[in-house]
Amino acid sequence: MFGDAIQREISRFKSPGKVVNLCFIVVFIFSTVLTWREAVVLEGAYVANQRNSLDSVATLLDRQLQHNIDSLLFYRNTMHYALQSPISTDRTRKSLAEFDLFRTQPFWQLRLDLHRSLPINGVSDEFVNSSPLLERDDETLHTELSAALELSYIMRLSDRSRTLPQRIFYASRSGFFLSSTAPVNDPKIVSLYYRLIAQPYFSSQSPQNNPSRVLRWTHTFNPNSTSGQIITAAIPLDFNGRWYGVLALDYPIDSLHSFLQQAKYDDHEGTVLLYDNELNPIATSAKRMPKHALFTAPQLAQIANAVTAAKPGEQGELRLDTRFITWAKLNNFDGLLIKVHTLEEGVRGEFGRISIVLSVLWLLSTLMLFVSWMVIRRLVSNMFSLQQTLSWRANYDTLTRLYNRGAFFEIANKIAQECKQQAQPFSVIQMDLDLFKSINDRFGHSSGDKVLTHAAAMLSDAFRQGDVAGRVGGEEFCIVLPDTTLEEAVKVAERIRVRINSKELLLKQGNTTRISASFGVSSALEFNDYDFERLQSYADHRLYKAKQDGRNQVCSHD
Ligand code: GH3
Ligand code: MG
Ligand code: MG
Repeated sequence: MFGDAIQREISRFKSPGKVVNLCFIVVFIFSTVLTWREAVVLEGAYVANQRNSLDSVATLLDRQLQHNIDSLLFYRNTMHYALQSPISTDRTRKSLAEFDLFRTQPFWQLRLDLHRSLPINGVSDEFVNSSPLLERDDETLHTELSAALELSYIMRLSDRSRTLPQRIFYASRSGFFLSSTAPVNDPKIVSLYYRLIAQPYFSSQSPQNNPSRVLRWTHTFNPNSTSGQIITAAIPLDFNGRWYGVLALDYPIDSLHSFLQQAKYDDHEGTVLLYDNELNPIATSAKRMPKHALFTAPQLAQIANAVTAAKPGEQGELRLDTRFITWAKLNNFDGLLIKVHTLEEGVRGEFGRISIVLSVLWLLSTLMLFVSWMVIRRLVSNMFSLQQTLSWRANYDTLTRLYNRGAFFEIANKIAQECKQQAQPFSVIQMDLDLFKSINDRFGHSSGDKVLTHAAAMLSDAFRQGDVAGRVGGEEFCIVLPDTTLEEAVKVAERIRVRINSKELLLKQGNTTRISASFGVSSALEFNDYDFERLQSYADHRLYKAKQDGRNQVCSHD
């Protein structure tokens, strides 16, 4: 049932070629849509993979930074407790007395215990008085120093074997500092202290510059030297409304470099870079920082545009020329991680290989589809022309290209009936070539065929539109003439006779001959009979008479 419906639908198309085209277009569209769908799924997986791999680095870095920030906050709490109720021992009292002796000297160092504490390194009263940022408040000075001595024990315990090597220090506004990398007691202490308080992370912690008293990140950026670049996290130390100093933790760029290099796991996975909040590159997972800027100014603006609204911990991605960029805002750092995945890395990676296989498969299937389309088109067109030839041969005589006997009788009967229905005259001409056997005998069968073709052509040229002719025997032809009286039909027959007889035919080996034909004509009106076969036999009878009367003539009476 369903098959029949399809068959009917298909047969509505005049040309089977169109059906074939349509089928192939449908298959092509389906295979392309399928490939496209797979590509979309693949792209989604690729994006997720890029995000995941960046996320793992971001989480690792965030966790490490969180750990360090926690220690910084722990040291601040320690200082708060110590400032509130400082522990006073003989040793601290001795150290404070030493301070009172040393405070006017250009540099000095206090140390409670050579092995268990870090030294407190200081500068002179004069140095402190020379800077408006600094202040030695004698009321709080001893308390702060004993708190710092306490901190010097605890800071000594800080774990230095972490993934991110860092330096923790306390820079006091009272002209001393405490650092996890302890200096020796020499004039360098002055320049070291000066460098600490001259940096932006110190001045930016003043109550005016940091009214909300929050942790701040700074990138001390020196484009001429990589080792000189440092990332610092700093928090102010306040107590009882006084700003005592700054507790800070800094990471040399090299430690961030090696962290990113260790965090990266696959060469085809792209490059991860750490950027500060002004989109300056700080560190990279590659062997060295890129010599040239990775992004043009408009591209940087595009990235900035994408990340400005993002909250800490958020991620995103964008495409810049042939590169795929994934970014992640860090929770514990005022900057972001950017992963750059180039097209070349993408092609070499797993997703690239799958994409290539997918494209090749699509190309192959399209090629095969195209080839099979061409073959089937050819087959269909051959079958179509074969069908045409066969149906032509079923109705036509191949030699004369006139209707054959069967088809002619069918058509002639139909025309006769139509004429009868419309009460029109109807005539039949029966024609037979004269002495044709002798042409065959004299010039051969192929020459006889040539004569037959010629006679048929003469016949076709002579009759009018609406007349139909057929070859009804070896050298016998019949013409039906609808809407034609006997007299008119005789004229047509006469015209054909004259034309056939008018030319000398060139036959085999330069021989020429003139042929003729005899005609018998009958009409429906004279017999009041529209039966074609009977009218044809009347015409044949008259033809016989024409032969008897000497051939090459038209006979229309008995
Ligand atoms: P008539 O004037 O009395 O009609 O003489 P005729 O020779 O034409 O008479 P007849 O009917 O005896 O001869 C017909 C010949 O036509 C016999 C046959 O060999 C020849 N013939 C029939 N079909 C073909 C054909 O397809 N090709 C050729 N070359 N000859 C054919
Ligand atoms: Mg004959
Ligand atoms: Mg004959």
